[in-house]
Amino acid sequence: MKLEIGMISAAALLGLAASVVILMGAGGGETADTGYTESDINSASHYSRSSVKTIEIHRAEDEMQELTDISECTITLKKKSSEKPEVEVSCNETALIENEDYSLTYEKDGDTAGKHYVNVEMQGKYKGNTLLSYEIKPEAPSVTLYRVRTSDITVRWKADDKCTGCELEYSMSKDFENSKKVSLKNSDTEYTIKGLEKNKSYYLRMRSIVRGNDNEDVFSDWSSSKYEELKKIEVKDGVTYVDGIIIVNKTYGLPSGYGSGEDPEALRAFNEMCSGASVDGIYLYLASGYRSYSLQEGIYNEFVDERGTEGADRVSARPGHSEHQTGLAFDINTTASSFNYTPEAAWIAEHCHEYGFIVRYPEDKEEITGYAYESWHVRYVGKELSEKVTESGLTLEEYYGLTSEYENR
Ligand SMILES: [Zn+2]
Repeated sequence: MKLEIGMISAAALLGLAASVVILMGAGGGETADTGYTESDINSASHYSRSSVKTIEIHRAEDEMQELTDISECTITLKKKSSEKPEVEVSCNETALIENEDYSLTYEKDGDTAGKHYVNVEMQGKYKGNTLLSYEIKPEAPSVTLYRVRTSDITVRWKADDKCTGCELEYSMSKDFENSKKVSLKNSDTEYTIKGLEKNKSYYLRMRSIVRGNDNEDVFSDWSSSKYEELKKIEVKDGVTYVDGIIIVNKTYGLPSGYGSGEDPEALRAFNEMCSGASVDGIYLYLASGYRSYSLQEGIYNEFVDERGTEGADRVSARPGHSEHQTGLAFDINTTASSFNYTPEAAWIAEHCHEYGFIVRYPEDKEEITGYAYESWHVRYVGKELSEKVTESGLTLEEYYGLTSEYENR
């Protein structure tokens, strides 16, 4: 008895399909020899991959000479839409004739995700059964990075309706070492990864999951990985910058000696805004611009005397936490709630972004900004950012993912 080892190459072209595994069923020949051979299986469609698996071949002893060239044999599976695959077998570039030298049967049908089998039964010169198995996988979801902040990233995706869920993986390493995985429901379309390490960059990718024919989860390939740098947060000389923008709120303060007057560029923009408003018949004027630490201290203490600490903190910043100390914040006209629903306030809300300003403490955002609605208080952030923040409909805190809370409440 002689053991023959050769190569069978098979290409499976399957609709959704991906990796193909070859297993060998128990022999169909009479006095069969047993051998093992590597089999290179390629499947091509919108997914392409190949895999090398072991195939076992049984043969009749008296036909051994005929079989020395089995390495030249090729089994090709071609997917014909929803029909059974078409199988071609050729040896030494000669196509074998069906039902003469071999016969082929296709055992399992269907496009359901999961493992499927094709049984190739060889007769005549090619005795034995070859069980080809292939796996049908769902398509990877298409992923977009929706929002990147200082310590979180929001991802949106679109997966096939057939999917039962998705898996999100993220890591600081492009090889996804020490990665974290999150399981997501199919009904979700957005997810925010929170608590990321500040000033770091992350790689993200997703794959979708469907219920397979064996009632097991079948995963798609991973989507191509996305890379994003978190918005940078840095402290220089006691001043906090996010993405290069000075941040002052209840969480982030300023040194008492910081600032000396209005920022010239911001003041220029403010005056342009006043001119712009006057064209529309709206009269705006500066009520309060730069305020030093000690001036703010006096203002805040007056509020405390009047309303107590809790009441004062809703409407006035503690010294060192006033945006006015940056020289980039301006109070317009009347600093009282009576101003909130005036045509002037409406004009500011609609147009200030055109001049590089944002309304810093919008209505119904007290929980986020730490301050009650102030239609009169605008902050200069430059035109690029003012457009983006205004378009987002978010406060500066929300836009960058920042808190605004005093350490000692
Ligand atoms: Zn103000």
